[in-house]
Amino acid sequence: MRFDILTIFPNLVLPYFEDSILKRGKDSGDIEFHVHNIRDYSKDKHNKVDDTPYGGGAGMLMTCQPLFDAIRAVKKENKGPVIFMSPQGKRFNQEKANELSKLNEIILLCGRYEGIDQRVRDELVDIEISTGDFVLTGGELPALTIIDAVSRLIPGVLGAEDSAHDDSFSEGMDGMLEHPHYTKPAEFEGLKVPDVLISGDHGKIAEWRKTNRKNPN
Ligand code: SAH
Repeated sequence: MRFDILTIFPNLVLPYFEDSILKRGKDSGDIEFHVHNIRDYSKDKHNKVDDTPYGGGAGMLMTCQPLFDAIRAVKKENKGPVIFMSPQGKRFNQEKANELSKLNEIILLCGRYEGIDQRVRDELVDIEISTGDFVLTGGELPALTIIDAVSRLIPGVLGAEDSAHDDSFSEGMDGMLEHPHYTKPAEFEGLKVPDVLISGDHGKIAEWRKTNRKNPN
């Protein structure tokens, strides 16, 4: 799957792809990342990408020209939907992650300041996604959140040993959260692992895991 990320802070995003699972997925060719600096598309002599809002008010807005040019350029390479990170968007969840993981390509647009000129949203944005009911300084963390959640659903990215199949919120879990986990040792500072888990009885273990799933709050 191909991800194109548009941001004015590429250095906030790039290191995340240089370690752990996403790096492995990148190295195996299952996922690819292309990070574009919106500022590179500015025709302003100082590479300006923001201006004051019409009608007044606090803060700056990202202007049309760099965003139109950047998005149009990236759309030549990536035929997927343009997703704008926005606290006003539809709330991101596992179902949305599943849906996006079925696509081959997506473009993620990160806002900054007070956001972006409405004309960009009207003309070039296909979907708006929020990662929660709070306001961040920019769309980079939301974009990475989406990329991370989507990437681990792409076949090959997680090894078989850490499959996403039984994870909380996954399709086979009926909306429940995963059971508690324990690892060695069987006793730590007097705290014991439930007997059933070390019994070797796989039927009973499966039953215990099922009855110990929790409801999301
Ligand atoms: N003035 C805007 C918030 C701007 S925050 C408003 O009131 O709606 C600056 C940028 O950060 C946004 O354009 C968006 O890209 C990103 N952002 C902030 N919080 C976010 C969230 N919860 N989910 C997704 N993106 C978010």
